[in-house]
Amino acid sequence: MKILVDTHSHTIASGHAYSTLSEMARAAAARGLQALAVTEHAPQLEKTCGLFYFMNYDVIPRQMHGIRLLMGAELNIMDSDGTVDLPENICRELDITVASIHPPCYRSESTIENNTRAYVEVMKKPYVNIIGHPDDSRIPVDYEILVKTAKETGTLLELNNSSLRPQSSRVGAKENMLIMLDLCRQYGVPVTTGSDAHIDVDAGNFERAASLLKYCAFPEELVVTTDFEKIRPFINAGKIR
Ligand SMILES: [Zn+2]
Ligand SMILES: [Zn+2]
Repeated sequence: MKILVDTHSHTIASGHAYSTLSEMARAAAARGLQALAVTEHAPQLEKTCGLFYFMNYDVIPRQMHGIRLLMGAELNIMDSDGTVDLPENICRELDITVASIHPPCYRSESTIENNTRAYVEVMKKPYVNIIGHPDDSRIPVDYEILVKTAKETGTLLELNNSSLRPQSSRVGAKENMLIMLDLCRQYGVPVTTGSDAHIDVDAGNFERAASLLKYCAFPEELVVTTDFEKIRPFINAGKIR
């Protein structure tokens, strides 16, 4: 299986990443990718982009260094109601959106009930395309409900390569991903792959995610990032605009 689309990465604009847009595009192209999504952190995370950053994406060519660019955001899920930190009209204009829970931005108590409800509510928003790193034992979730809701709403669940790094702050990611993948296979729910790169050398790096997919013999037809045409119906650029 060859993964050709990266649906999650950051540039220096996110405040704690280290490469420019051009450097990220060049690195992903050098790895042979078809498309790279740049999903800058939405405003509630410290020192990231403001609203105008996300409103000015029209100036960015969607082909750079021979690769397709998708300009998006990683929204913060703020509470168990699924509130996110960019207004709907801005989200709808983005090529792609990931929504994630980050502990510093999450106001609800991290219980399995609250977190599951947060994901379910956010997946009901038609402009939320992907749930980012639902793999952290600090944010426990009912995977059966998560996977079934992803299917009902056409939302993609992410296999996050960075979560699998040994030094990752996310706890139990591998075990949680295996549970999620097993349910995805059972219910026929597609997954996406995000490097969550914060530096160019990691753009399109799926070393760990790919070996996990291989380890559990996950069916290639359920991995939407093996060809851009497979993912197009799931992202704003393909379904809203
Ligand atoms: Zn994140
Ligand atoms: Zn991220």
